[in-house]
Amino acid sequence: MGYVDEVIERVITKNPSEPEFHQAVREVLESLRPVVEKNEEVYRREALLERITEPDRQIKFRVPWVDDQGQVQVNTGYRVQFNNAIGPYKGGLRLHPSVNIGIIKFLGFEQIFKNSLTCLPIGGGKGGSDFDPKGKSDREVMVFCQSFINELYKYIGADEDVPAGDIGTGAREIGYMFGQYKKIRGVYEGVLTGKGLSYGGSLARTEATGYGLLYLTKEMLKSNGIDISGKTICISGSGNVATYAAQKAQQLGAKVVTVSDSNGWVYDPDGIDVAALKEIKEVKRARLTEYKNYRPNSEYHEGRGVWQVKCDIALPCATQNELLLEDAKALVANGCIAVAEGANMPTTLEATKYLQENKILFAPGKAANAGGVATSALEMSQNSERLSWSFEEVDSKLQGIMINIFHNLDDAAKRYGCEGDYVAGANIAGFEKVANAMLAQGVC
Ligand code: NDP
Repeated sequence: MGYVDEVIERVITKNPSEPEFHQAVREVLESLRPVVEKNEEVYRREALLERITEPDRQIKFRVPWVDDQGQVQVNTGYRVQFNNAIGPYKGGLRLHPSVNIGIIKFLGFEQIFKNSLTCLPIGGGKGGSDFDPKGKSDREVMVFCQSFINELYKYIGADEDVPAGDIGTGAREIGYMFGQYKKIRGVYEGVLTGKGLSYGGSLARTEATGYGLLYLTKEMLKSNGIDISGKTICISGSGNVATYAAQKAQQLGAKVVTVSDSNGWVYDPDGIDVAALKEIKEVKRARLTEYKNYRPNSEYHEGRGVWQVKCDIALPCATQNELLLEDAKALVANGCIAVAEGANMPTTLEATKYLQENKILFAPGKAANAGGVATSALEMSQNSERLSWSFEEVDSKLQGIMINIFHNLDDAAKRYGCEGDYVAGANIAGFEKVANAMLAQGVC
């Protein structure tokens, strides 16, 4: 058995009941085979793959809080500090009932390579809780966030670990967490990113993941001789990533015809009305069933179905494993030319394979959605120098970073003889830098 297969088997045996983590490790390590084969003797001796698949530490803690009825509720909090070979741990906090240690580990593992791809000095981490902010009052969300930080503050810091938002954690939650950290520690530092603009947040951070997704998609299409303007796009999700992906797609001259949430999806043949979407999701915190009130020509459907709609480009922006083999088949049959992942691991391994076999341009999440963390790192820089950059300055740096990421992964794929395989290219480019740093820093 080869080194890669040995390590995959070891990960599965050592971490039972963590299927998402197994999936992420398999996806990364399998595409690293050419690099590993070239360096097998050193990597084996240094146990490099064993070390990179084992988090530096996993923190799991109780989060008690009192609801509006006076009842004590108990959630579980997590922070997985996966790898800090190239910088302080950096990665979001997910608040969703589905959160468990396996999901946080898959996200933290992916984050190592994503952060490395940005070429900024940030290591990989991820955290969150099984708390569901949906349907909770502002007071309940606040006391949950305070309790969460009452424990997490011991492990984070501007030069140590800098969490950010993710599913369920937006500006409101980050604000409550930052306030509590400041109160307990008595220091004003850039310990969290995604902060409000009046207290250290960066302009363009809100838009960054969605905008970055489109900058990378545009560059991938361009380098394959295709213009994004005039293309029809299907987007899933209707949260932070989906909303700003839709906005930038329209600015680039494409037409977005779908969005979705966990209950259903909208088809708008005239193009999604982003202002209406923002009002429904960001202001009213309501469901997509309301969209029809703004756009009578649109259709609302219960359940899944976005990928059955004919489009040129598909941008999954909701959650993991939301684009299945049957969806990939429908996309190919309908003439789709490109898929770029706004969410983390939204496409299953079988679906990815099918899309690639059918010559669909496929940009993996760790490259395509890296604009969020890259702009978080820019927020850290602004906090360190106690300055704020203009929207245009941050946006232009973001564009440069996304274009650079695409060319780095394209070049890595070419160097290892797998031209056009952007999954392998992203994994190789992200891995090489971290591996070299780990080897240089000795056994630790
Ligand atoms: P939000 O919470 O803002 O939005 C998530 C969207 O996905 C909502 O529309 C939500 O619907 C939907 N969704 C969530 N879980 C499910 C599910 N199990 N089934 C179907 N739909 C679901 O999150 P973000 O937009 O921030 O994040 C979306 C994805 O992008 C995640 O994978 C995240 O890890 C990734 N990402 C986010 C970054 C960021 O900067 N925000 C950076 C990089 C990656 P509903 O409202 O019904 O729950």
